[in-house]
Amino acid sequence: MARTTFEVEGARLDAATFAARHPAWVRDPAALRALVRTPRGLALPPLPAPPRDALFDPWRDAMLAIAAPRQELKLGSGPVKPKPDGSFAHGTAAFLPSSHWPVCGRCSTHLELCLQLAPSMVGPWLHRPGALVLMYCFACLPGSPETTYLRIVEPRTLATRPAGPTASSSHTSTTQTRGVTVLPPSWRVPDSMWFRYRLDGEDLGGAAAVLLGREEIVAETEGEDGEDEEVGTFDAYDEWAERFNARGRRGDGALGGYPNWEQDDATPACPACRAPMEHLLDWNGEQFLDGALHVFMCERTPACGKELEFVAEF
Ligand SMILES: [Zn+2]
Ligand SMILES: [Zn+2]
Repeated sequence: MARTTFEVEGARLDAATFAARHPAWVRDPAALRALVRTPRGLALPPLPAPPRDALFDPWRDAMLAIAAPRQELKLGSGPVKPKPDGSFAHGTAAFLPSSHWPVCGRCSTHLELCLQLAPSMVGPWLHRPGALVLMYCFACLPGSPETTYLRIVEPRTLATRPAGPTASSSHTSTTQTRGVTVLPPSWRVPDSMWFRYRLDGEDLGGAAAVLLGREEIVAETEGEDGEDEEVGTFDAYDEWAERFNARGRRGDGALGGYPNWEQDDATPACPACRAPMEHLLDWNGEQFLDGALHVFMCERTPACGKELEFVAEF
């Protein structure tokens, strides 16, 4: 195995010495896994073997303890006919408890449909029956509960959006219904950006907090030709994570997994139990520019679980 050294904590250490000082990858892997929703009744593939990497080998098994299942969502291209048991996005139709189309509580515009996910698709992640419906007022950014309709509903009645002003970032999103499909679940570890955002607010402890913190650390590894190769720990980790995550192309959104934060980690606290809520859904759907709508839920206590919470990034 090639020898790797870091310039860290005021000294040049080899990887083995550094790992002896920081035997854990993160202090509490269970606390990180608790940030991510776990599906029920969904057949998960076996956890892949961790990729080999001279830099990260001391922690390769520990790194898998925070891997979480995730299902990528894909936005289809062509128009589809919306159905009560279908998964679809955009357009002027949704299946709701009544035929009333929700309006923005602030500006009274009829909300724009982001997506409706079929009970069969979202059920394993919700742990309860119902379709997930997300509507949004793109005129009232960044959005609040009164400018958004985010519910688990019985998809009973066809509701149609009345013609009227729209403000979505996607030109076709208010005219055409597009299908949403889901890929099989795969195991994912978060990327280095997720760690950096998380580490801004919380000391995760362990080697990850040092190697993936605000300051990138340059590691030197003796290459096969005897020459030293330098690599930054952020890039090296992302390469490792990409190899582990290889099965999952990135979609237009995803069920479960760690949120793809664009700006910072804004995981909401549960209004009932105050714990960080579990990440349920990322959705871009060509409506949120480079960002996404991140949806969270919590069912840790009987008082939790009534509300879905969201954070919008543009
Ligand atoms: Zn509005
Ligand atoms: Zn809670």
